[in-house]
Amino acid sequence: MNSPFSSPATSACKRCGECCRWLPVALVRQCKPHQLHYLRERGLKESGGMFLADAPCRHLKKEEPDGDGIPRWGCAIYERRPATCRDFCGKTLSGGKRYFVPEGCTMTSDSHGKPE
Ligand code: SF4
Ligand code: SF4
Repeated sequence: MNSPFSSPATSACKRCGECCRWLPVALVRQCKPHQLHYLRERGLKESGGMFLADAPCRHLKKEEPDGDGIPRWGCAIYERRPATCRDFCGKTLSGGKRYFVPEGCTMTSDSHGKPE
């Protein structure tokens, strides 16, 4: 997430909160049939070739809509958020890996968020 809690929208981040909500669990293509069944039966979301658990960060806070009625989300500890959160938004990590970026994120290109 790239916007502080209760801040005005000053960047391309649309404050959808998706990056702080969905937890990547497994690559769909690497799952064996019984694993596919297990994860689908538990209702995990499939997106970008991954299974995602709906596991919002405890610091994710809903904000007041800007007037368009669309809910916005922010980080309640934005000024002291962990380094991994500061590094988010398509940046390459030291290990050469990228973060999972949700579909529809306006902070990165289409090439990001895809499993490697
Ligand atoms: S600490 Fe803040 S930026 Fe990091 S995952 Fe939680 S809500 Fe998102
Ligand atoms: S998924 Fe992208 S657009 Fe949505 S809050 Fe996170 S950084 Fe912003």
